[in-house]
Amino acid sequence: AEPLLRVKDLKKYFPIRRGVLQRTVGYVRAVDGVSFEVERGETLGVVGESGCGKSTMARSILRLIEPTAGEVWFEGENLLRLSGSSLRHMRRQMQIVFQDPYASLNPRYSIGYTLEEPMIVHRLHTPAERKRRVRWLLERVGLDPDYAKRYPHEFSGGQRQRIGIARALVLQPKLILLDEPVAALDVSVQSQVLNLLEDLQDEFDLTYIFVAHDLSVVRHISDRILVLYLGRMAELADAEVLFVDPLHPYTRALLSAVPVPDPDAKRERIILRGDVPSPANPPHGCPFHTRCPVAMDVCRSEVPAWREVKPRHYVACHLY
Ligand code: SF4
Ligand code: MG
Repeated sequence: AEPLLRVKDLKKYFPIRRGVLQRTVGYVRAVDGVSFEVERGETLGVVGESGCGKSTMARSILRLIEPTAGEVWFEGENLLRLSGSSLRHMRRQMQIVFQDPYASLNPRYSIGYTLEEPMIVHRLHTPAERKRRVRWLLERVGLDPDYAKRYPHEFSGGQRQRIGIARALVLQPKLILLDEPVAALDVSVQSQVLNLLEDLQDEFDLTYIFVAHDLSVVRHISDRILVLYLGRMAELADAEVLFVDPLHPYTRALLSAVPVPDPDAKRERIILRGDVPSPANPPHGCPFHTRCPVAMDVCRSEVPAWREVKPRHYVACHLY
């Protein structure tokens, strides 16, 4: 079957401009050739340190920012070729939940209006039906339907993120991009929101792309996990396989920072040297070679190919 979403060689370069004439002197390669597929009902986790391009990738898929190159196929249509009403129609099916539930809700709008607005914009339902749907949605995300009358400042971070999730559900999307949806929340609230997302996925047949910097957050919710480094793909595997048998040295380093529940099963902690290089000036060869504990000569000159080294397990590294 055709996957729900197919991303092919997606790139987003931001020009660096200098001087009075604002000449372009280079590019920040935020997303530099990313390809993957997402099956219906699947959750794809996307992880990497900040600056690895994961948020830019999510926004480029939705065309909240315009990609520089590539293809984004959603249900057989290349989104990057669409415009006007056909683009609007496709966008209804893809929604995003942002990290910061404080910034993503308009403080002057009641929760009821916040949830009703997308239906007004798309001219859906009668006013009475919209109000009913708002109350129903609030219940679905575990909130009191009477909260519709209240304003964002009256809610906790966790409640606001539930409202952000309800807003993403209003138009009955098929795909939701979750951009660090629990990173701003207390640990105790994080698991509640993760459980809610899993319940909603089953109830509404949703497909998720779950972006996070923390591998432990995506472990249980993801079917597969894609690891990005400097805007490029390092590794892709089934979630449990990635935890048990990580192949890329960068994935191993990320994993070594994840606390292990069983103290006897301690992993060796791998400390990465140096900072993430600037995506304006990425290293030649393997983008990870400046920090890789096992880099070889070839890593400095040749870009490692993206290979399926075990069934469903892909990696870009000269070790394999
Ligand atoms: Fe390390 Fe070389 Fe593999 Fe890159 S290609 S991750 S530098 S071993
Ligand atoms: Mg799932």
